Amino acid sequence: MPPPPISPRPTPTRRIPRYVIGSARPIPTAVSVRGGVGGRLDVSQHEISVSRHRSTTDNPPGPVRTCVGCRKRELAAELLRVAAVVDGNGKCAATVDTTGNLPGRGAWLHPDQQCLHAAIRRRAFVRALRITGSPDLSAVIEHVENLSASSPHPARENR
Ligand SMILES: [Zn+2]
Repeated sequence: MPPPPISPRPTPTRRIPRYVIGSARPIPTAVSVRGGVGGRLDVSQHEISVSRHRSTTDNPPGPVRTCVGCRKRELAAELLRVAAVVDGNGKCAATVDTTGNLPGRGAWLHPDQQCLHAAIRRRAFVRALRITGSPDLSAVIEHVENLSASSPHPARENR
């Protein structure tokens, strides 16, 4: 059995229509919103300047190492990693860690003969690799010489 239809009632006259209430003060809400927007403008400008600063200087796209030759900081991807290996005779030799898998300490070097020779001159490999005596650097020297001969910008080729 369906319920009896509710007869629509006319709006009671004692209810005050909304536009009567709003007409007293229709503006204040809009004014406060505008004030808030004005206040946010300064904040957003500040955030833009901060993020721009961070993207250029504070956020390099990778780990950074120091070249043992020129002592400049550089992205690790742009540097050669030199590691010490011990041959069968117990003699230390330095080699270029082309795969990045050699264990132990590493020395970072620009693929540049000037940096290589500066590092050799100041015995930077001995200190960086914590090895005693004079390591055999011929493999590293040969590697850098090959890079220099094949391309003037070997580091950029890898990108
Ligand atoms: Zn260097």
